[in-house]
Amino acid sequence: MDKTFSIIKPDATKRNITGDINKIIEENNLRIIAQKRILLSNNQAKNFYSIHKEKPFFNELINYMTSGPVVVQVLEGKNAVQKYRDIMGATNPDNAKDGTIRKKHALNVQENSVHGSDSDENAKIEIDFFFQKDEIIG
Ligand code: ATP
Ligand code: MG
Repeated sequence: MDKTFSIIKPDATKRNITGDINKIIEENNLRIIAQKRILLSNNQAKNFYSIHKEKPFFNELINYMTSGPVVVQVLEGKNAVQKYRDIMGATNPDNAKDGTIRKKHALNVQENSVHGSDSDENAKIEIDFFFQKDEIIG
């Protein structure tokens, strides 16, 4: 079965809406097969978003992602990567469709509540970085 990697971001843990986000994930037939609450270190956040290191919002993004706990997850389901991207909605909540997590919960283009892998290749890299094999019970 296909897998993707998800992060419930600090704006969402702060507002106690991780349960509502998980409910939306499950209602859309993705299964949460691993999950833990962690604090990202500065280096972890920089490494994770290194593709954006030249962007003007990079420093702010790292400050935000390390500003509080996140919940990292492995999601399983058919076409998990694309399916979760669809459920998340557009990066900017102003452009997100009704029924998506970001439309319902995101505060703005930065504090947008969730991350999802953008390819199967990146999903594998991200899952392997944050989880040991025996933490994933499919
Ligand atoms: P993610 O990678 O977190 O799943 P995404 O793929 O929808 O989100 P990216 O373009 O990869 O969007 O941007 C990564 C993250 O950087 C965004 O989710 C958001 O938190 C932040 N970000 C993106 N664009 C902006 C911006 N213009 N201003 C501030 N923050 C931004
Ligand atoms: Mg991205």
